[in-house]
Amino acid sequence: MQLESVVKEIRSRALEELRGSGKFAAWRERDFLHGEEVDAGVIVLSTRGCAWALRGGCTMCGYVYDSSRGASQAEVLQQFKEGLAKVGEVAYLKVFNSGSFFDEGEISRETRLKIFQEVNALGVKRLQVESRPEYITREVLEESVSVLEPELEVGIGLETTNDYIREVCINKGFTLAEFTRAFDVCKSAGVKTKAYLLIKPPFITEAEAIEDAVRSGVEAARLGVERLSYNPLNVQRGTLVEELFNKREYRPPWLWSVVEIIKRVKERVSIPVVCSPSGAGTKRGAHNCGKCDSRVLAAIRRFSSTQELRYIEELTCTCKQRWKEELNLEVFER
Ligand code: SF4
Ligand SMILES: [Zn+2]
Repeated sequence: MQLESVVKEIRSRALEELRGSGKFAAWRERDFLHGEEVDAGVIVLSTRGCAWALRGGCTMCGYVYDSSRGASQAEVLQQFKEGLAKVGEVAYLKVFNSGSFFDEGEISRETRLKIFQEVNALGVKRLQVESRPEYITREVLEESVSVLEPELEVGIGLETTNDYIREVCINKGFTLAEFTRAFDVCKSAGVKTKAYLLIKPPFITEAEAIEDAVRSGVEAARLGVERLSYNPLNVQRGTLVEELFNKREYRPPWLWSVVEIIKRVKERVSIPVVCSPSGAGTKRGAHNCGKCDSRVLAAIRRFSSTQELRYIEELTCTCKQRWKEELNLEVFER
């Protein structure tokens, strides 16, 4: 069976079984902007969900189960306002919807413009949204930039610069050429771009995942992307990856792999490299031996918000040797 039909089948079954809360979320965190550590706010809106996910979608993504099917635009705007009240004063505001900010099925043009007007009143330095490439058009971006006062940054889930891995392991549904087109549109509209890169998609070894993530980061930076954000895979409910995980055919990445990737990439690129692994330190997220996880995770977070390599350079634990052995063993077994 083709990967796409397997994913579709898992999705339609899980959409019946899993009823998400449909609740939005908002929190404060630290990030790196304009050469310094700043306060950032994240608001996750619960819209009707990513259109690609509703048609099957990516092998690791279960965000669609948290969407609010039937959410009205008034509700989406209300969530945004409540989110703003929760995050308070920040320099860097990130508005996510686990889908595409520019998909009018999720966030209408009217709501988008109202959100921009609210943002203008806040005095933030940068607003970040996220979108698949197909919704990024010159028209939409030019209008956005003309209304919005702070800088606009669009995050795109490129995941890898390798088309084969993106298609065969992730079922992402777009090519590097489509990403590049969207990137060019952003560039000519004066919009900044952030590439999300996935650490350890299914069907490749840990060692291959490290090489893919390093190569992808360096290549994306060479294309001109202004920020790299690494997402170590976490096993989400109702996904193909969860089925593999339950059969013990998938292990989320080691935190040592995450450290190795961001270190090697940061040494080669001059743009910010950030990583805030969700679900890390648990069996379903990126993890080490259990004893060093919180220490390594805290170091990755410190690195992300300061861009100072010293936080991740001296990390050690007895499990580091086991990680190295497993890397070699996995390659040997293939
Ligand atoms: S990873 Fe992004 S594009 Fe893929 S299904 Fe999830 S929200 Fe949609
Ligand atoms: Zn350890």
